[in-house]
Amino acid sequence: MNTVENKVALVTGSTSGIGLAIARRFALAGAEVVMNGFGNPAEIEQTREAIAEQSKTRVHFVPADLSKGSDAQMLVKQTIAICGRIDVLVNNAGIQHVAPVPEFPDERWDAVIAINLSSAFHTSKIALADMQLRGWGRIINIASAHGLVASANKSAYVAAKHGIVGLTKVSALENARSNITCNAICPGWVDTPLVRKQIEARAVAQSMTVDAATKQLVGEKQPSERFVSPEHLAELALFLCSEAGGSVTGSAYSMDGGWTAQ
Ligand code: NAD
Repeated sequence: MNTVENKVALVTGSTSGIGLAIARRFALAGAEVVMNGFGNPAEIEQTREAIAEQSKTRVHFVPADLSKGSDAQMLVKQTIAICGRIDVLVNNAGIQHVAPVPEFPDERWDAVIAINLSSAFHTSKIALADMQLRGWGRIINIASAHGLVASANKSAYVAAKHGIVGLTKVSALENARSNITCNAICPGWVDTPLVRKQIEARAVAQSMTVDAATKQLVGEKQPSERFVSPEHLAELALFLCSEAGGSVTGSAYSMDGGWTAQ
């Protein structure tokens, strides 16, 4: 049974990549969706309108800079003000920075931890209080294979993603007796702007074509040698919101082409 129909879903970082696919899928399943993220305002408005038109549900855009805790809390408060409540929270916004620890810029460490981890605490804090009023809710934290295993040169990202898996478990336990669940999704490589930057950097550093760099990057970690698709991740998120998904809480669900099976 589809339980997102007529529910209110906030998806952070949904102007691009995985978040956009989840926002679109949830709207098509009948949810009232609040989008968020950075980008060109005219393009965001076009995307918002297109999703609303296609899905025939209400789709909003609320700007917030999730590197700031106050903005993250305000985003959920505004969602509740606009839509009357929040039923589903998808903490998806994220950034990456790649450098060995001694060279890792302090400011990038702070930004990755703030956006990829602390923002999920701030949004969950406000959302859980509202979900508890009705005893139903779903929180889905988009973690990563890097929430379960590490790679060199990604200290802040790996720390933040391991942290969000921990936050997921605590939120799940605190609400286990109600119909509020909290789960993490741990994707492997997904072809989005976040990964494109890493592929382009690798192509330049190793004087290879972008195609060769893509094959090398995916093949190194992901036995399937294929990207995970944003649409498949959106289907998993939708399942976690279903009635059957109600029995799943505190889990870190891998969709990683075999990455963490090794
Ligand atoms: P993306 O760059 O396509 O999307 C990131 C989104 O976050 C964008 O909408 C962007 O505007 C938003 N964002 C960034 N900083 C923000 C801020 N300060 N405030 C508000 N919004 C902000 O990247 P993606 O690959 O779709 O990543 C989405 C999530 O999936 C991230 O948490 C990422 O860590 C995770 N993830 C991605 C991959 C991958 O291979 N692409 C793998 C595992 C996990």
